[in-house]
Amino acid sequence: ARVVDPGRSEDDRVVEAALRPRRLAEFPGQPRVRDQLGLVLEAARRRGRPPDHVLLSGPPGLGKTTLAMIVAAELEKPLRLTSGPAIQHAGDLAAVLSSLDEGEVLFLDEIHRMSRSAEEMLYLAMEDFRVDVIVGKGPGATAIPLELPPFTVVGATTRSGLLPAPLRDRFGFTAHLDYYDVADLVQILHRSAGLLGVEADEDGIREIAGRSRGTPRIANRLLRRVRDWAQVHGEGHVDLAAAQVALALFDVDAVGLDRLDRAVLEALCRRFGGGPVGLSTLAVAVGEEADTVETVAEPYLVREGYIVRTPRGRAASPRAWTHLGITAPRSAPL
Ligand code: ATP
Repeated sequence: ARVVDPGRSEDDRVVEAALRPRRLAEFPGQPRVRDQLGLVLEAARRRGRPPDHVLLSGPPGLGKTTLAMIVAAELEKPLRLTSGPAIQHAGDLAAVLSSLDEGEVLFLDEIHRMSRSAEEMLYLAMEDFRVDVIVGKGPGATAIPLELPPFTVVGATTRSGLLPAPLRDRFGFTAHLDYYDVADLVQILHRSAGLLGVEADEDGIREIAGRSRGTPRIANRLLRRVRDWAQVHGEGHVDLAAAQVALALFDVDAVGLDRLDRAVLEALCRRFGGGPVGLSTLAVAVGEEADTVETVAEPYLVREGYIVRTPRGRAASPRAWTHLGITAPRSAPL
């Protein structure tokens, strides 16, 4: 697994539970989302009613699960966790919904991966706090309406575009989480270092933050690797030198690119003169599947402006040449 993978690994799961901020006031970054959500929750609290359903969208590792937990904590209600892939039949959802207590918060992770029949049941439940339980089969089947106590759905998705409009419309409040800037990641890392009992100075933290691809999950993971290095090779103190050497060991460069990212840039610039080159040709050049290049390396390289996707293939931008320390030839496409 790549150390800069934004997805959650088994190893992350345990540590992440300890590093999650518990309340909105402790949640660094995403100031607009924090303020808007704070308002929605406070207003609901004053009315003594559950708030609107909340949809959180954004790339992995930016804090959707953390915010869902915070919603429940701020409302002082229990949180029920499930996910789209776990709900394959409407009956699975009916079982969860019918066991909710008043005001409970239901977290539906990867909500875009729920089955169509469950989705339809969810619309009704979110709008009318009711599910129709189908009893019997064929022409004799009857729908028995079951009233539910009011509750709040917090849905999370990395692909809000995949949500059908009727489902999206049932969420009264939608928040999009964006990548964090370095200053926010510095704050997150100081907090995590404190919780992990790691001594870390500002330069060390800043170096890790700059290589974390705007993603708290990656930042926390890199911090743990630098801590490991510092404990084995030094006094356990995370400083600039420890961060630089440890992250070089894990192949994460000064701007957060790893071996695969750099291989793609090198191939694009050195072998193909900056492109444009087709995805499969590029993938063969770096010895990977086209799918891996497209889903693992490319999103970050495109987002950061190293690569541009053109109708004729991938092309290197001036930033790619600069990063590799090569002067772009006159024939370079961009
Ligand atoms: P996924 O889409 O993969 O489920 P996610 O968006 O739900 O990811 P979380 O699991 O909430 O992400 O966060 C990943 C890790 O990053 C957790 O350890 C969490 O504590 C940390 N984290 C995320 N956002 C913040 C933040 N704003 N402040 C501090 N830590 C954060």
